[in-house]
Amino acid sequence: MSLGDGTRCVHGGLVPAAPGGPVPPQPVMASQFHLSDDPAADFYGRAGNPTWRALETAIGDLDGGSCVVYPSGMAAVSSLLRVLLKPGDTVVLPSDGYYLGRSYVNEYMSGLVVREVPTTAEWTAETVAGARLVLLETPSNPGLDVCDIAAITRLAHAAGALVAVDNTTATPLGQRPLELGADIALASDTKALAGHSDVLLGHITTAEQDLAARLRSERTVSGAVPGPFEVWLAHRGLGTLDLRLARQAENAAALHEVLRQHPAVRSVRWPGSPLDPAHEVASRQMRRFGGVLTFELASAEAVAGFLAASRFVSSATSFGGLHSSADRRARWGDAVPEGLLRLSCGCEDTRDLVADVLTALGRL
Ligand SMILES: *Cc1c(COP(=O)(O)O)cnc(C)c1O
Repeated sequence: MSLGDGTRCVHGGLVPAAPGGPVPPQPVMASQFHLSDDPAADFYGRAGNPTWRALETAIGDLDGGSCVVYPSGMAAVSSLLRVLLKPGDTVVLPSDGYYLGRSYVNEYMSGLVVREVPTTAEWTAETVAGARLVLLETPSNPGLDVCDIAAITRLAHAAGALVAVDNTTATPLGQRPLELGADIALASDTKALAGHSDVLLGHITTAEQDLAARLRSERTVSGAVPGPFEVWLAHRGLGTLDLRLARQAENAAALHEVLRQHPAVRSVRWPGSPLDPAHEVASRQMRRFGGVLTFELASAEAVAGFLAASRFVSSATSFGGLHSSADRRARWGDAVPEGLLRLSCGCEDTRDLVADVLTALGRL
């Protein structure tokens, strides 16, 4: 019998029980290790340590592959691009995905042919022709648009391209890109996976053992490595991911319902709703939906008024944490309307959050 999400989150990456040993994972902060003739033994903190392996085991088990952790989501994205791409290669990037992926490629990697494609494009053989790597982001951040991972992967593989999916918004409980055929799943675990808004972290998972080994080696050599304390914090957060996502999705469903009927609100998006244009594809490939929704108010001023009037929704960027927060994405230069707000539902009681949001909207 396969284990449920909650059990896998709680027990993933635990060390075998030993009398007198700790029950939860404990951070190993050492940079030095006693040397050994066993080539698999730890020897220096930049190359590996038990704390990384514990979280990599837990996430790798959920994602269905070999996981490599990084000090941030962007460290994971940039490492993948450095390892897979060389000058002359073509890379397909989401034009509406997390903006720093495009920035990194355009500012810091030279000689690539960059094809920016909207998540909801009509994907054809032409879209992926000649590509070495196709990076998808679904649901996309911030628009929450969805693309068909399995269908695009078939096109990409026929063209000889690898497919990587930025799975940040979904988390490994919401979506398993490798099971849908993709070669690589990556994420910013700063968001829902760690879930407490107090740590930056990222990861890449792949079932290709050679690629996983190259990523590990590049991490060691480049030196962009996560601190064990941060990795331990993320592992501690992962334990409650199933519970947090359940409450966050409940809150998002309730807010979607009241927001879509509110006169001050337009264009509410949450792929979990059967009314959402992304729902059909999303429900085919996603296992569950998270707590992030977007909607539009009349202007930047209306957003500022809403956020000032809300008691529980902090004005803060990032998403997926315990505390509800919201971010007006146009302030960061995303190509979205001035009044578009990405709201990340926290783990407050649904009743309290809905009442607070309605009160704040009522003051507009
Ligand atoms: C936040 C985010 C990133 C970057 O992650 P950091 O941990 O902030 O470096 C990458 N992709 C998506 C979809 C994100 O939301």
